[in-house]
Amino acid sequence: MKINICHLYPDLLDLYGDRGNILALAARCRWRGLEAAVERTSLGDALDFRSMDILFIGGGSDREQGLLVEDLMKRREELKAAIADGLVVLAICGGYQLLGEYYQTSNGEKIPGLGILDVWTVAGDKRLIGNVAVELKPRNPVNVSDLQTLQTLVGFENHSGKTYLGKDVLPLGRILAGHGNNGEDGTEGVRWHNIFGTYLHGPLLPKNPHLADLLLELACERRGYFLPLPGLDDQLEILAHRTILERLVGTK
Ligand code: GLN
Repeated sequence: MKINICHLYPDLLDLYGDRGNILALAARCRWRGLEAAVERTSLGDALDFRSMDILFIGGGSDREQGLLVEDLMKRREELKAAIADGLVVLAICGGYQLLGEYYQTSNGEKIPGLGILDVWTVAGDKRLIGNVAVELKPRNPVNVSDLQTLQTLVGFENHSGKTYLGKDVLPLGRILAGHGNNGEDGTEGVRWHNIFGTYLHGPLLPKNPHLADLLLELACERRGYFLPLPGLDDQLEILAHRTILERLVGTK
């Protein structure tokens, strides 16, 4: 079995170790004897969302978001259809903002988003920066038994955009430490269909292996493959996760 992973705009959107998310997904496939094919796609490249299992879009500066939006818009309908068909998407920070309605920068410029997610973003006057801990919503279950005890996400955020969620979407979780979507309503990220949008860089997946496996499980399920995924020895990953969590919010 092969998992097709696409890293979209890796040359433009790749902040704070975002590429580590791709490495983590590929490693977790490899460790289980699954093949992971990674495709790096940028401006103007041919792209077939239908053959894809996981799409990753990382974070970037306002300038880079502006540069790629025209190219992204051309792919809108195909991407929308693939998402309706269950494509698994992980979008971080700038990538997350671009899936929403728009991103209004600090100089008032409105960068249009794909309008796939019912969210919108307005640049604030201070950067929301630092380590983040999030309590996951219980509706994001993970079937891998060793990881079931992890109900949190940890990561690093650095954005000025404040993202607000419309009534059609629910947050990924609740902020325990840090700012999250907007620093105001205590929410972080979004989960809609199989799209996971989040402000957590870091990279996110190596220290949140339960989220990595959730993405892989959803991708497998969509193709009708076996579930649940065989467990892995995640002692180091769990230790890294718990250590930062403890530092941020105390013992949980
Ligand atoms: N340009 C966006 C912001 O500052 C995204 C930054 C990022 O991807 N880290 O809000």
